[in-house]
Amino acid sequence: MSSENSPTPSDSKEDGFDTIPQDILDRLTRVDMPAVKDVAASEETMQVGDAIIPVYRCETLVLGSGAAGMRAAVESKRRGIDVLVASTGLFAGTSACSGSDKQTLYTASTDYKGDNFLKYAQSLCNGGSMNFSTAYVEAVGSIDAIGGLQFMGLPLPHDDRGAILRYKTDHDEAGRATSCGPRTSKLMVKVLFDEANTLGMRILSSCSGIQIVKETTADGERVVGVLATHRPEKRNLYGFVFLACQDLVIATGGPGELYRDSVYPHHCHGGLGIALEAGIELTNVTESQFGIGSPRTTFPWNLSGTYVQVMPRVYSADEDGKEHNFLTRYYRTTREMVSNTFRKGYQWPFHSTRMLDYGSSLLDLAVFLEQKAGRKVYLDFLRNPDPVNEGEQFSLDDLDPDVRAYLENNEALSELPIDRLKRMNPLAIELYRMHGTDLCKEPLEFAMNNQHMNGGILIDDWGKTSLEGCYSVGEAAGNHGVTRPGGAALNSGQVFGKRVAIAIKRSRLNRQPANADIKSIETSLAKALETAASFLDKSEGKSTNQVKAEIQDRMSDHAGIICSADDVSAALAEARKLRQEVESAGGLRVTSPSLVGSAFRWRHMAMVSEAVLTALDHYIQNGGGSRGARAICDDNGAQCPEAKDEDLSRFRFKEELEKDRVEKLVIKRDGDSFPIRSLPVDLTPEVSREFFEKGWGPYLIKEG
Ligand SMILES: Cc1cc2nc3c(=O)[nH]c(=O)nc-3n(C[C@H](O)[C@H](O)[C@H](O)COP(=O)(O)OP(=O)(O)OC[C@H]3O[C@@H](n4cnc5c(N)ncnc54)[C@H](O)[C@@H]3O)c2cc1C
Repeated sequence: MSSENSPTPSDSKEDGFDTIPQDILDRLTRVDMPAVKDVAASEETMQVGDAIIPVYRCETLVLGSGAAGMRAAVESKRRGIDVLVASTGLFAGTSACSGSDKQTLYTASTDYKGDNFLKYAQSLCNGGSMNFSTAYVEAVGSIDAIGGLQFMGLPLPHDDRGAILRYKTDHDEAGRATSCGPRTSKLMVKVLFDEANTLGMRILSSCSGIQIVKETTADGERVVGVLATHRPEKRNLYGFVFLACQDLVIATGGPGELYRDSVYPHHCHGGLGIALEAGIELTNVTESQFGIGSPRTTFPWNLSGTYVQVMPRVYSADEDGKEHNFLTRYYRTTREMVSNTFRKGYQWPFHSTRMLDYGSSLLDLAVFLEQKAGRKVYLDFLRNPDPVNEGEQFSLDDLDPDVRAYLENNEALSELPIDRLKRMNPLAIELYRMHGTDLCKEPLEFAMNNQHMNGGILIDDWGKTSLEGCYSVGEAAGNHGVTRPGGAALNSGQVFGKRVAIAIKRSRLNRQPANADIKSIETSLAKALETAASFLDKSEGKSTNQVKAEIQDRMSDHAGIICSADDVSAALAEARKLRQEVESAGGLRVTSPSLVGSAFRWRHMAMVSEAVLTALDHYIQNGGGSRGARAICDDNGAQCPEAKDEDLSRFRFKEELEKDRVEKLVIKRDGDSFPIRSLPVDLTPEVSREFFEKGWGPYLIKEG
């Protein structure tokens, strides 16, 4: 359809949402973060060899200042615990820097129907590999999670009776999603920092944990602190500091740097590497989310919700700028194509079964294949979709009933996608305008990207890891199953942020203050100093950029949405070789002492990449089929996607085995290997009732 024949975008301000004053839109998109006073340089130091290492002491150390870490910090501080937050970037990470059209928080609904916690919990663990008990904890805890955030000032929209406004998100049959707009998680970080400031929280910025320090006790090992780099620190060559603690909360976010095709903000390394190095177990690391978003090379942002529900024209462009209406080769009718574009709004993550029957993940596959063919893919909000068959023009009167009803209910039946978007979500336009793309004037490039790791550090229902004294919350923790409703990640971080604070407080009641063994700390720090020195003054060895490119290319090309047994095994062999190389003497080099932190981080990422591929290879070699965000392709697979004019037989895929739903794969590092064990999960949707007088006494004793 030529643009000349197209209607022109309306600049009318008459439609409801369009009349919102600019300053209100600005408040929700251009979020000002509070000033944070840094901790004064510590005067306590340790001498390790020739190096002077400053020491910062606290009862609980929270590593990472995203929404999850800050909730843990605030809840702990309120309970009288002496907390120190140490973070690479105070307002870095996904909470502060990521979002979508309506970034989603998934909590028990207080709308006119009320909610059912058993059903809520089932929605969390429906994909398998997650205990029902964990899901129930997150469901019940969501009330408190959201109540606390509202108390701190999070501007969640509600009706005049106080019920928070809701909508439906991915893997969500009930409509439990809510949002403050594109920047929900940034607003969460803001109110949590405001609260931290009120509580007088000690916060060390530009401080990156690079090694967990442990001591051996009669019962095994426990954490005694973390070796970190602190950018302003000049008392030793590398800016090392030792953060001595009795309890550690790892809240370092997800390993966004694992993939080249990624919608994470830059510099998200997460903490899985430091956890593996400390011998801490990880779980479900095979499970990630992939979906459409604007690429990291531009402004990384998720493109779910209204961005696709307004049904923009989707096209690709080749090197010569020639445009291709590629989706018409996949879907059979215009109505089928646009209705599935719409469904990406709440079926955002790729899922193999949704490739079948011309479903919404056929669009993901089509985008993935365009990218592989070297073409760039765009959403054009200024034009309606091109027809699939001649004469079959896009029409708002020819949509699947659910699609038509949604647009009708939201009074969004304007002629053009951009006007429908203005009507439903002007913040979505504002956001890209802030970042250099005016959707009212130009198309938006997008791609299939990695967005979230459902797995991570293995925790129990109190956030406790396999190392004594060490907890984990947020995306660093592996407490999701194979799938999760959109918004469940942010909720989980809040629920477990509070739970670790309760668990730590309770554990301190019966604990004698530990005097950490200074000798074992010195030995660990001396070893780290030795490793740091080995990264410098090398002419041979790989640079961090080379290691980064190798890891990211391998993960995106061989461990993305389309996998096969041989391919994953070959990728694993290469990942192992790289990890061994960077860990060998002279294997990794940096050119300045200030870059030593980066060398540690990329050494960790090499380890994380090997761990993920080891788990994935183990899963596939043991018959594991397609689930979550990955299609495991196999010529003998039972399912095969079909497309109108494309042969997709090479994407025939295996189905998931029932046995894999009721276990989690647990992996850790042991010397040169990554042993795996399977841990059964209980998906039974039952919770025993606690009676008031029976439960009250034990509760009071536990709280002390
Ligand atoms: C584009 C996009 C859209 C998303 N949309 C949604 C959504 O709608 N709903 C939802 O629930 N989830 C969503 N997610 C996922 C969600 O945003 C994250 O899971 C969540 O924000 C993670 O919070 P966190 O506090 O665990 O980690 P982060 O917010 O990533 O914070 C980690 C912190 O740790 C610091 N850090 C990292 N390593 C170290 C170290 N070694 N030492 C010290 N500090 C360190 C970082 O600087 C940062 O401050 C989305 C993610 C992306 C990328």
